[in-house]
Amino acid sequence: MSISKNNHALYTRHEFKEFGGEFSATTYQIPKLKKGEVLIKVNFCGVCHSDVHIHEGYYGLGGEKKLSLLERGIKPPVTLGHEVVGTVVDVGNEEDSNLIDKQFLVYPWIGCGKCVDCLNDKENLCVTPASIGIFKPGGYAENLIIPSSRYLIDIEGLDAAHASMLACSGLTTYSAINKIMPVSNGDSVVVIGCGGLGQLAIRILSSMGVENIKAVDISEDKRELAALSGASETFDSADSEAVEKILFASDNRCAAVLDFVGNDQTVSLGLNVLKKGGELVIVGLHGGELKYPIPVIITKAISITGSYTGSLGELNELVTFAKKVDFFNIPVEMRNLDEAERSIFDLAQGNVKGRIILENN
Ligand SMILES: [Zn+2]
Ligand SMILES: [Zn+2]
Repeated sequence: MSISKNNHALYTRHEFKEFGGEFSATTYQIPKLKKGEVLIKVNFCGVCHSDVHIHEGYYGLGGEKKLSLLERGIKPPVTLGHEVVGTVVDVGNEEDSNLIDKQFLVYPWIGCGKCVDCLNDKENLCVTPASIGIFKPGGYAENLIIPSSRYLIDIEGLDAAHASMLACSGLTTYSAINKIMPVSNGDSVVVIGCGGLGQLAIRILSSMGVENIKAVDISEDKRELAALSGASETFDSADSEAVEKILFASDNRCAAVLDFVGNDQTVSLGLNVLKKGGELVIVGLHGGELKYPIPVIITKAISITGSYTGSLGELNELVTFAKKVDFFNIPVEMRNLDEAERSIFDLAQGNVKGRIILENN
């Protein structure tokens, strides 16, 4: 098959032209691919809760405080969609032509590709991000150009629609877990917040052989689900004695806390249950401020780490892991690509059970 056969063909992106504004289906022309670039036809694109925030133009930081996305360099028009599975239809490099017609998961957290972080597989931490579906056009579109074939991950053997979610919720969870592994025998891991990511964390931890998983949530339903997912014990975060109960149940051996909520109360609970040398990994973006006695951090030798998405290497590891262990059984609702706007609206209203995945037929 010859390369660059798609030059000047037309395709549609479902984009918004101002934050909070309507989506419009806009036609673009496929440019001549630059060296190394890869053109894919989008097959599936997950609708992530962060897409709702990007559309709104800010992340809430607790109370009235907001983190403006315009100030962070995200400029409309924006084509959302960072959970993309697609088929390669064209390549800029002759040596990539063996990829044509094959289906891949796209690593979306792309950086500049040149700085020391990018060269050390920390592209998700690059100071000049080019993330797909945020800083660059994403998968709410018929086609997508990827800067290099190295961002394509083979998902053969996996359900392709499901695999799209590995790029964001899966990777975010896996990268947080990666920061606390290995867990010594007898030590406990505390998972705070048992929504989608928390449940996923419990399933991944337990399939990695971690036995003492303490799950914390305010909702009884979610605590029950956590127990089904593999938590050894569950605790109500609203219980004023939650810290004491967790310390007792873990025999004062909480080596790590994964906080998928990330507000004042959960961070403080996390710090208060950690054993000496323990690590608190904060993933949730609910916001707030950290007030904690500094000498205790030192004398207990505690680490506090933020975790944001994950690296290309970690996504490759996660996909390999997913091919061996079926931990990713999340209910999904398939919708057509042109229902992107309605999907964002429904998600913002809380009218969605499980995950929406857009399908480009
Ligand atoms: Zn996401
Ligand atoms: Zn970089």
